[in-house]
Amino acid sequence: MRLQEHQSKLLFAERGIAIPRGAVAAAPEEARRIARDLGGAVAVKAQVLVGGRGKAGGVRLASTPEEAEEAATAILKMQIGGCPVHKLLVEEAVNIRQELYLGVAIDRNLRQAVMMASAEGGVEIEQVARADPGAIKVVAVDPLLGLGTAQTQGLAKGIGLPEELGTFDGVARSLYETFLSCDALLAEINPLAVTNTGQLLALDGKMVLDDNALFRHPDLEQLRDASDETPAEREARGAGLSYVYLGGEIGCMVNGAGLAMATMDVIKFFGGAPANFLDVGGGATAEQVAAALRLVMRTPQIEVVLINIFGGITRCDEVARGIVAALEGIESRTPLVVQLSGTNEGQGREILNASAHRLIVAGTLTEAAQKAVALAGSRQEM
Ligand code: GDP
Ligand code: MN
Repeated sequence: MRLQEHQSKLLFAERGIAIPRGAVAAAPEEARRIARDLGGAVAVKAQVLVGGRGKAGGVRLASTPEEAEEAATAILKMQIGGCPVHKLLVEEAVNIRQELYLGVAIDRNLRQAVMMASAEGGVEIEQVARADPGAIKVVAVDPLLGLGTAQTQGLAKGIGLPEELGTFDGVARSLYETFLSCDALLAEINPLAVTNTGQLLALDGKMVLDDNALFRHPDLEQLRDASDETPAEREARGAGLSYVYLGGEIGCMVNGAGLAMATMDVIKFFGGAPANFLDVGGGATAEQVAAALRLVMRTPQIEVVLINIFGGITRCDEVARGIVAALEGIESRTPLVVQLSGTNEGQGREILNASAHRLIVAGTLTEAAQKAVALAGSRQEM
């Protein structure tokens, strides 16, 4: 889960990192009011979960409340990387002497968190990594010992910070602390501004949290931005399903993530394109199966649905009941290819065969995938 800039910065600030004063606005008048209260020049910044916002014109400086309102009006009309802008951060403008980069991420080869610093902040770090990899200094953080002062001093020296910037150690430790305590995959300040009074200020903030650890952080889960997900993804999460939209024409409903991946591979092998990844999970009830199928059937461009169930803990008759229940509430002519094997598969097939809907029961996954691909093709030609 990605956090918006203002959310990331508040998490940084709670742990002692200095950030500019500011507030979030959803309308131009609100932006003007915040600018007036801040009493000076402000930066008006689109809150969108895509990179390159500044370059796209989503960050504007305004010297009066009226200018802030104008900037807000313009930015709220923008789409940045396909994302409409609904919220703005209005914060006091800062006189920048230098822009640094500071980030913590996981290095999967090292199996450790690494802290990265660069004197070339303000531009995307991937760009620095390509153009001048030596400009990025990296230290690996021992999970037991934490980030040491010698390490932060090494980073400061490596990027040429003057010694009097004693606060760098504090910012670096606080950033690592934020990363660790939120179970983040990434915590990044870019730019970490050196102001003309020599202060270090987080001007931008980016955090990516580990979804698999979010259950430990109900407070962070609350920060989830609805615009980060499609309605289908949000609904799937609510129903406890793993769902990823993929855009092809064959809707998929499978139990087990590995089987879902294998099913997608087989569809691709026979020349089709999966519309989604969907794992209904182990031991799914008829209600869950029905919810999952309704979700898949609503995908606008699907030509056919392929259901592939391996009954272990999951019972095929229960799945079949879910399929029939879902179809009763749907007026759709989309054909379904179903392959059930394992626990109670005979009963499951009987339930399906008794249904009035257009169901094609296949004996193997190969047969099911071939039929689904053929149906998708023929429907496209019609
Ligand atoms: P990004 O493009 O999404 O990474 O947006 P940032 O928040 O990093 O802002 C992009 C750039 O705008 C920064 O690197 C700064 O150069 C500039 N900027 C942002 N806020 C201020 C500010 O308060 N004062 C000044 N002078 N520049 C700012
Ligand atoms: Mn930035």
